Amino acid sequence: KIKKLNWLGFQKKERLERIQMLKENGFLSDEFEQILKKNENLPLETSNQMAENGIGTFALPFSIAPNFIVDGKDYAVPMVTEEPSVVAGCSYAAKIIGKSGGFTTEILNRKMIGQVALYEILDFDNAISMVLENKNKLLKIANDAYPSIVARGGGAIDIEVRNIDEFLVVYLIADVKEAMGANILNTMLEAIKTPLENITNGKSLMAILSNYATESLVKAKCEVNIKLLSSSMEKSIETAKKIELASKFAKLDVYRATTHNKGIFNGIDAVVIATGNDWRAIEAGGNAFAAKNGKYEGLTTWTFDESENKLKGELTLPMPIASVGGSIGLNPSVKAAFNILGNPNAKTLASIITSVGLAQNFAAIKALVTTGIQHGHMKLQARSLALLAGAKGKEIDIAVERLLESGKSINLENVKEILEKIK
Ligand code: NDP
Repeated sequence: KIKKLNWLGFQKKERLERIQMLKENGFLSDEFEQILKKNENLPLETSNQMAENGIGTFALPFSIAPNFIVDGKDYAVPMVTEEPSVVAGCSYAAKIIGKSGGFTTEILNRKMIGQVALYEILDFDNAISMVLENKNKLLKIANDAYPSIVARGGGAIDIEVRNIDEFLVVYLIADVKEAMGANILNTMLEAIKTPLENITNGKSLMAILSNYATESLVKAKCEVNIKLLSSSMEKSIETAKKIELASKFAKLDVYRATTHNKGIFNGIDAVVIATGNDWRAIEAGGNAFAAKNGKYEGLTTWTFDESENKLKGELTLPMPIASVGGSIGLNPSVKAAFNILGNPNAKTLASIITSVGLAQNFAAIKALVTTGIQHGHMKLQARSLALLAGAKGKEIDIAVERLLESGKSINLENVKEILEKIK
């Protein structure tokens, strides 16, 4: 690395100063610097074309988690979330994990799966062998229905078939290149629907992409030098052991597993939204994957390696993320997010997002097993309340400080009382 990045005091800066820092650290082009400075958003004309019955556009906070190192490369990660402390937690984790070498990732595969469900099949054995016999013909029909993806070097590549109860399910597997592939696959699946009915002598119930993207798995790993967990070695070891226990607990208790995974998606969704991707698709796939062993489990695994004094974390998830298609090219904020990330391709973006999930989980469980989650939350909660109570400019910080000092409950009534005294 030639240039050393400078994020000093990033969280305390003003919005425009932060944009300046992004620029100075080489994460922003001139064009997108202007777009961000003007806070340019989705134009109404565009938004009106994107969804039905529009009455306006809807804003959310757009933030940066700096200090990410993924596969040896530096990133400032754009996040869109309304939840206080998500970006702070993620940035904290990125910094500690970055000091330990950052994240390494592995793209296990990148294909999308769609399905045609058939019913009223009289002879399943015969229907299955007919589908397999006609595999190449069906693949050709699928590819002829979406020739542009074939021209890009992708397309339908395989067909599998399974009898599930009264259904015959035909799975189509396709390489959708830089896209998420929903429309690509849906078009292909609808094209093979009638031919499948003819081949199997059955009726088709539906033809649709599956969000259980088990052919688009990404694994992110990190190793945290436990010295960074606390100022005392004794406390560091204790924390590392507790983080391991927390990951074990999340594999065993579904009440915890759900919250554990929600925390992972706090980070993942924020980047998925910032990059214009389909967050429902990523959540649905991730949550289904959490139940792959027959019961719903926490998605991350943390182990404390005492011989190396390292805390090792791992997260594997379906990550069918796109760098093109959908709404990605339409929203200037999304384009700015891509610019900040160095215009990653779909695989690199999937690696970054999975790393963010692991970082977010680290931040959450470290807080949970040490100071507790409210410690960090309360200040942010107080800020939200101060804003709600009508505090402006400097009043916000003063009101927050006085409320926390007062030892009183963090609620709207108390904030209002303090604010009245300030004003
Ligand atoms: P698109 O329909 O936008 O298709 C991808 C587009 O990207 C194509 O127009 C393609 O152009 C273009 N493209 C340019 N470069 C590339 C490249 N290198 N590789 C691949 N495509 C390229 O998007 P998807 O098919 O990905 O569908 C995603 C959308 O579908 C999302 O908005 C999602 O919310 C929605 N959706 C999701 C469903 C689900 O999750 N179950 C169901 C239905 C819709 P060209 O045609 O020239 O190749």
